[in-house]
Formats: sequence, C-alpha cells, structure tokens
Amino acid sequence: MQNTNFLDCVGKAHRSDSEIARLQTHIRETNLLSGDSDLVTHYESALATHFQMPHATAVSSGTAGLHATLAQLIQPGDEVLLPVIGVSMTAIAILAAGGIPVFYDCQPDSFKPDIDSLERFRSDKTRVLITVSMWGYPAIDSKIISYAKQSNLIVLEDTAQGFGTKHEGEWEGTRGQVGCFSTQEFKLLSTGEGGFVLTHDISLGQRIREFVHLGFSKKHMGFGHQMGLNYRLSGIQSSLGISQLEQAEDKIRIRQAKTQAWRDGLSSCKMAEMSQNLQFQHNGYALCLRMSGLKPGDAKMIRKELFDVGVHTDIHRYKQGLIHHFPFLSQYAHDARYKRNDQLDFPNSTQLMDELLTLPAHDGVSLISINTGVEKVLQVLNAW
Ligand SMILES: *Cc1c(COP(=O)(O)O)cnc(C)c1O
Repeated sequence: MQNTNFLDCVGKAHRSDSEIARLQTHIRETNLLSGDSDLVTHYESALATHFQMPHATAVSSGTAGLHATLAQLIQPGDEVLLPVIGVSMTAIAILAAGGIPVFYDCQPDSFKPDIDSLERFRSDKTRVLITVSMWGYPAIDSKIISYAKQSNLIVLEDTAQGFGTKHEGEWEGTRGQVGCFSTQEFKLLSTGEGGFVLTHDISLGQRIREFVHLGFSKKHMGFGHQMGLNYRLSGIQSSLGISQLEQAEDKIRIRQAKTQAWRDGLSSCKMAEMSQNLQFQHNGYALCLRMSGLKPGDAKMIRKELFDVGVHTDIHRYKQGLIHHFPFLSQYAHDARYKRNDQLDFPNSTQLMDELLTLPAHDGVSLISINTGVEKVLQVLNAW
C-alpha cells in the first residue's frame, strides 16, 4: 500500500548522531539550560559570524522575533505593509505590536513588492515595509531598498523561509534594517521551535534582545526599566542551533538536489519556475512552479487531486490563499484603498495563486519519493 501522504509538505527535521551527542554533552556540561545559558551567547555569535552581521538575537520563535522587532519600530496605530501572499504569523506579530496591517501586491513574477502597489497603499502613518521570502524565493532587491529609503520606510525582512537564499550577491535577511528568521521544525534549520533576528543597527539589536529577555536592562543590571516578554531561546535549543548552523551548507545542498530532481522530472511540462527571470541562488526550501494556461479555479482542483494521490502542496494543505481573506484579518481588508473599479486590487498575487504549484524538498522527502511524486504530477497534469 502506498502511503497516502508520502510527499507531505512538511516533515520532521533530520538530526545527525553528532548533533545528538553534542546536545548530551552540552546538557551535562553547561552552567544553565535556560535562556541565560552560555550556549545562547555562543549561538548568537555563531549566527552573527555566519552572516557577517553586527548583531544577532536568538528568540523562542519566528513570530516572537517579528513581534519583538515591531514592538521597537512602531507605535500603536502605525501602519505596516505586508504582502497578500504570505502567512498569518507576520500579521499576528503586527497586531501584537499594536500595528495596522496594510496589504500590498507582489510583482508579476516574484514575491518582491510591486512598488506601484506600495505607493498606492501606504499613508503618512506607514512606518515599516515587511518583505516575505516565500518558499525561499527572493523578496527584496536594491530598487526596493532605495524606494523604502526615499519613503522613510524601515525594511523588515521576514526570512523564516529564506535562510541561505542569495540575490544580488547578498543573503536574504541581511538587506533590510532587520531580518527575522524561524528555526521551527519545518524550516531549513531546526531547533524544534525557535528563531533569530539579525540587524545592522546595534542599538536596535540591543533593544530587541532586552525585550525578549523580559525587559532586562544590561545598563541598569535589572528588570523593570522597560516592557518586555519572555521570548528567550533556551540553552537546549541553542545547542541544536549551533549544530544546525554548522550543517547549513549541507542542508541547503541537499534541498537544492531535491528541488532539482523535481525540476528535471517535470521539465517536459514546460511550467515556468517562480522568479525564473531573476539571478539568484535558491536555498531549495521548496520548488514553486507556475501552471499556466488554466482557467481560474483549475489550479485549486489540480492541487486537491495531487493531495489525494499523496503529493501535498503547501497551498492546498494550509488552505493558503491571499491572507487578507483570513477571518481574523478581514476587518483590515475592507479599506477603500484596496479597490479599483470594484475589483480587489491585487492582480499579480491573485494570478499567481491561480497558478502556483509548490513541491516539497524538506528532510523527510527522499529522492525516491520525489521520483514517484513526479509520476503522479505528470499523470494528473496530463489528464487535465
Ligand atoms: C514559519 C513562519 C513564520 C513563523 O515562525 P514560527 O517560528 O513558527 O513562529 C513567520 N513567517 C513565515 C514566512 C514563516 O514561514
């Protein structure tokens, strides 16, 4: 019997024997296992070194990192731009920081913001532009950075899925003022739960670190000087993070081999890859192909058929649509600025969602299962 979800879109991260052995040693030898452990400090320096960034803060989740960052950047009532092709967590963090989410459209062939859309939807209350590197594809470039600078917008990169992608010679997550990563189990590096925040601005980095340490002030050596939350990453998770970071290049190479296997297997289908006109090095998070020439609604049915034969796509699995349709965000989606001639004005994102096929490349997916997956995809598409 074929396992009916043999190509799940998420899976448990692989842990090497040396990673587990090291964890045991760390547990035995460390002074503390809490968020005040030396292991956390080691992990943070390793992250800063890896990315050649002046400041890195380990946090308990990607969402916590986004919230801790936004809490430093906005006042309640300020607006934050985020893409309609994204995830709920970005919006959750905005709301938690008292901000108002304002949606924007992506470019026709990438997850980068469409600058016309930013220009139309921002107001004098907009402080932050969040870019989201969905499935590891680039979401920022030098044009967007200059636009943000001219418009007085701070750029926050949500790079939860973007670890290891390079575009214009630079890593995703190091280009805006701040980059927020997740190391939740299903992301490229996994500490079970966790994340980290990189920034070029050391004073911002220090404020983020104090916020995630319950407002503990280094300068005053005490609590109570400022608001904060307990968003610390533990020593145990930091041990895993140190090992995962050392394996990062291998992990990326393996994912790239898997996305390449999908690409090769499906090359006869003539599906365009996401962002195919950009020069970039993809981290292999997942493969995004575009099924063109379909009627609206076809893609949804194809993704459902694929799900039924065991090939799970993120979009079907998470009922991922444009995020302004999420019930908890609908009150922010009624703004008159989103409509032009009675049409919701996210044409590029709408079309993209009507075409996108996401194929998994995580640790739980084997090359053999990809071969079977390719056959299933070909069967479904050829019968369509
Ligand atoms: C996973 C993810 C998050 C949230 O990260 P957690 O560690 O699960 O809180 C935020 N943004 C994006 C794009 C994600 O993929």
